[in-house]
Amino acid sequence: MKTTNKKTNILITGAGLCGSLLGLRLAQRGYHVDILEKRPDMRKAVVDGGRSINLALSDRGLAGLKLVGLEEKVRELCIPMHGRLIHDVEGNTFASNYSGRDGEYINSISREELNKLLLDEADKYEDAHIDFDDAVTSVDLKNATVTYRDSETDTEKEWKADILLGTDGAGSVVRKAMMKQRDYLFSHSMNWLPHGYKELSIPPTDDGKWRIEKNFLHIWPRGGFMLIALPTGR
Ligand SMILES: Cc1cc2nc3c(=O)[nH]c(=O)nc-3n(C[C@H](O)[C@H](O)[C@H](O)COP(=O)(O)OP(=O)(O)OC[C@H]3O[C@@H](n4cnc5c(N)ncnc54)[C@H](O)[C@@H]3O)c2cc1C
Repeated sequence: MKTTNKKTNILITGAGLCGSLLGLRLAQRGYHVDILEKRPDMRKAVVDGGRSINLALSDRGLAGLKLVGLEEKVRELCIPMHGRLIHDVEGNTFASNYSGRDGEYINSISREELNKLLLDEADKYEDAHIDFDDAVTSVDLKNATVTYRDSETDTEKEWKADILLGTDGAGSVVRKAMMKQRDYLFSHSMNWLPHGYKELSIPPTDDGKWRIEKNFLHIWPRGGFMLIALPTGR
């Protein structure tokens, strides 16, 4: 097994929620971390409006954020949801708690705001570098080397690290390389949901009030499809 030291160069693919949190934590631990992210910097450009749906952030999710010292800042972005509020076809509602444990609830948080916060915090560390607009195109796992499209020069370049960590999401190039390069036991299966989703907004009333109860995750279950609503904004 490779031993790590503080001069270990770690390369992470993808600066989404996992990549930016992981990069931040490793920089805090004194490692040199580079992250290659295929999209533009979401703090400077509108990246993808269709993925703006809020996240339900549990105590488990908060534990990771606490580890990097961000619990308080993250809580400022959260709207507590004390349970699910189920809406049936007759218009009746039923509340169902998230947890049997006292005082535990789940939070609604903007994915974008959370990701931006993690990127800002990672940027504070000299040893953390994030390169945006650079898509990883292939991966050599044995040599911890990736090929990526360098947006500045519009050419393919190679990046060799000591350790490579893949956090490049559902269509991960790193995972595909693990499947193809079968040098060790690796089992994998992928199932795509047949559903799509559309995002709708329920604006506040004219006098700025919530139209439905604020502190719930609303669900309209209808068999093969459903509508959900999470509180957002302040
Ligand atoms: C509709 C929907 C609702 C969800 N709701 C919740 C929820 O309420 N609560 C919850 O906990 N989870 C929820 N999830 C799951 C959650 O979004 C994922 O678990 C989480 O985003 C995974 O984070 P990640 O960093 O691994 O991947 P991602 O957030 O997908 O980030 C991957 C990053 O890698 C980048 N990337 C991809 N390919 C490359 C490449 N080749 N080179 C360089 N960069 C690359 C991408 O641009 C992206 O920035 C939801 C998911 C969906 C789709």
